[in-house]
Amino acid sequence: MSGVTSSAELTQVAGWLAEARQVVALTGAGISTDSGIPDFRGPNGVWTRDPEAARIFTLQSYVADPALRRRAWQSRRDHPAWTARPNPAHRAFVELERAGRLLAIVTQNIDGLHQRAGNAPERVIEIHGTLFAVECLGCDDRTTMREALDRVAAGEPDPPCLRCGGILKAATISFGQSLDATTLRRAAAAAAGCDLLIAVGTSLTVQPAAGLVEVAADAGARVLIVNASPTPYDPLAAAVLRGPIGAVLPELVAAAADPG
Ligand code: ZN
Repeated sequence: MSGVTSSAELTQVAGWLAEARQVVALTGAGISTDSGIPDFRGPNGVWTRDPEAARIFTLQSYVADPALRRRAWQSRRDHPAWTARPNPAHRAFVELERAGRLLAIVTQNIDGLHQRAGNAPERVIEIHGTLFAVECLGCDDRTTMREALDRVAAGEPDPPCLRCGGILKAATISFGQSLDATTLRRAAAAAAGCDLLIAVGTSLTVQPAAGLVEVAADAGARVLIVNASPTPYDPLAAAVLRGPIGAVLPELVAAAADPG
């Protein structure tokens, strides 16, 4: 229980969660920081501290600069997501799914931790893509990251596409790259079809992800925000919880399951 969230407020919010039948979770970096995955835009975020690091995620630089691609493969190999474990906040959404009340998880994260925690992969909509797949920028061929990293380890520092010789990249959305239209449509449909949207660990500053909050609210859903710092959508929310995500979320889901 956090110092800023009163227990009366938590009880009220848990009541809303208990009433909800079609919950959509919108998750961002803040849900994975307890699992050791750094946040990019938070106060101690990678990009906040080192704006140059953001360059590696810009499609134009990636295509133009072979040295940067070699560094990108190294950073994919060393990414904390390979060894990270889901934390209690991830597991809270597994509980919610088992209770039959989770419509979808729309996540901005590329770390695969929702699936690793036990949520059904078909319920997890990864709007910013995934680290665990690789796409060819030439022919759109899709392979596993493991396969590509094996080639890197075997001596190809920037492995080209085996089908067309094109540039390969993690199947994540870089700056300057548009989101996958089908994925985005699924996310918007989930937001429009939920009765409660809970945004967790996201600053809600990146579009179109953030706009899903508005889609849900416009469709009549209740909006809950669980985030350490204020977001532009706080005024739209029925409640804003500031407490540590790894503590607040399991408590909320447990209270909703057992309102007595
Ligand atoms: Zn190709």
